Amino acid sequence: MAESKNHQWLLAQRPVGMIKESDFRWNETKVPPLSDGEVLLRNVAFSCDPTQRGWMAMDTYIPAVPLGAVMRALSVSQVIESRNSGFVAGDLLQGMTGWEDYTVSDGRGVQKLAPGTDPLLALSVLGATGLTAYFGVLDIGLPKSGETFVVSGAAGATGSVAGMIAKIKGCRVIGIAGGPGKCGWLVNEAGFHGAIDYKNENVGSALSRLCPNGVDIYFDNVGGEILETVMDRIANGARIVLCGGISQYNNPQGMFGSGPKNYFNLILRNARMEGFIVLKFQRRFPEAIAELSRWHDEGAIKNKLDVAFGLENAPKALIRLFTGDNLGKQLLQLASS
Ligand code: NAP
Repeated sequence: MAESKNHQWLLAQRPVGMIKESDFRWNETKVPPLSDGEVLLRNVAFSCDPTQRGWMAMDTYIPAVPLGAVMRALSVSQVIESRNSGFVAGDLLQGMTGWEDYTVSDGRGVQKLAPGTDPLLALSVLGATGLTAYFGVLDIGLPKSGETFVVSGAAGATGSVAGMIAKIKGCRVIGIAGGPGKCGWLVNEAGFHGAIDYKNENVGSALSRLCPNGVDIYFDNVGGEILETVMDRIANGARIVLCGGISQYNNPQGMFGSGPKNYFNLILRNARMEGFIVLKFQRRFPEAIAELSRWHDEGAIKNKLDVAFGLENAPKALIRLFTGDNLGKQLLQLASS
């Protein structure tokens, strides 16, 4: 195995503005020999996540990827060779590896998946985005039956699952997404009660029409102007779940440069706004995975996947999140397990 080639994407430069393929450098090397305590993993599939742009740019809730290092990614991988007593060849693992064919790991940061697990399901509804939707809606949004729930980035991985969970809890669910195709999917397939095409409609007027009594819960994935527009229409006692702010991630001034100027509405409407990083709920992941799995099997959560193929396409797959080309969970598949 040590003679095998290993293709990699290295971080070539910190992104400025929109991320681009030239922020990465393609590299060909050899799979290094294993030392005691190490395992050799073949990466099977990668999750594409907006937070990867943060990892490229700076220290956030985890340190930035060093320049010249393999680009970090959440993955499902398979043990090919093991010199670690905790793993045997064939084990399927989930955790943090990177954009390369093979990763040498000391076993930290990866967990075993049950044999036969579908890698794409493990990286979508049952992965970080499904868990984010679960805890954001249930623990921070605190939905009650009959309430009006609005979510932005609604046709994406986190937003679509968040909307479906709110619907399970009896809310009236309105999604905000870019383009008629995504809005059609939300209403006709994901079961949302309404959708707003922010690229072609006036979001404020559409919200006033679809949410005449105001917005009880707003699950925010995008920040910026849409956040302000929704904040103008929150109901008394509203909860705003700050999950992400993708409209600001490629902002050349940085993502701390803008904020909602109408925050005073939180006071006037006795409302609350709370941000979170899903890792905060790590100890409760097993409970959430069991519940998400049940809803998925019952058909209450539909898992929409958008799968790109081949390691060479990793940067392009990641960029799709920022151009809005993805519908549902963007993944990159390298090989079948
Ligand atoms: P995703 O929603 O599947 O994909 C990103 C979507 O963002 C795109 O499909 C696009 O949809 C939308 N978008 C891109 N640029 C935009 C802009 N300028 N304005 C408005 N919308 C834009 O990605 P995801 O992985 O599920 O992540 C969604 C959000 O959740 C992100 O903000 C991410 O950072 C956050 N997140 C947070 C946590 C946490 O722990 N807090 C964990 C995971 C994810 P349209 O075509 O509709 O524009």
